[in-house]
Amino acid sequence: MGHDEERRFTAAEALARLKAGNARFVRGEARFPTLQKEILASLAKGQRPYATLLGCSDSRVPPELVFDAGFGELFIIRLAGNVLSAEVAGTMQYAGTHLKTPLFVVLGHEGCGAVQAALLAKRHGARDRSRIEALLANILPALEEVDPGLPAEEQMRAAVEANVRWTMRQILETPEAQARQAEGVMQLVGAVYKLETGVVRFLDA
Ligand SMILES: [Zn+2]
Repeated sequence: MGHDEERRFTAAEALARLKAGNARFVRGEARFPTLQKEILASLAKGQRPYATLLGCSDSRVPPELVFDAGFGELFIIRLAGNVLSAEVAGTMQYAGTHLKTPLFVVLGHEGCGAVQAALLAKRHGARDRSRIEALLANILPALEEVDPGLPAEEQMRAAVEANVRWTMRQILETPEAQARQAEGVMQLVGAVYKLETGVVRFLDA
């Protein structure tokens, strides 16, 4: 749901790139700092990620790179618009109960296509394919607090942040989150990633 790029790969080209990338990784020639085989072997025995992160599927916001995190460090759920669903809640509960990650992060990003589409649907009644509309329906309640009088760019910025807070609110309403918060063993934070600078801005509670 990002901006179109001039160059578009075919599926076969994309698959070849994935395979080539994996081959580089295995050869120890990855473009990004990578792990020693011993560390991989040790991680194969189990994971202890320190944070669970719900982010957007947008290709421009890869959490491990954004946070310079390695294998086994982040437990990540990515969906367009970083929305909550039953499956996401189940994955988060797994992270809390079994992996016991102490920190939960909802990471939105500026220029989010899903949020933009929800804004267009709300303001102008724009229609989309049914499954996309179902996704956008998860975002619409977040937009209630966005001032329609703001310039479009500011509305968009406010909508991205409101969507992060809306997802956080829904997470906090779950009984398991309330229990874990009461025990003081879980922290939930919201953040917004800025595409142009790569800076993650953590939101005030
Ligand atoms: Zn997005």
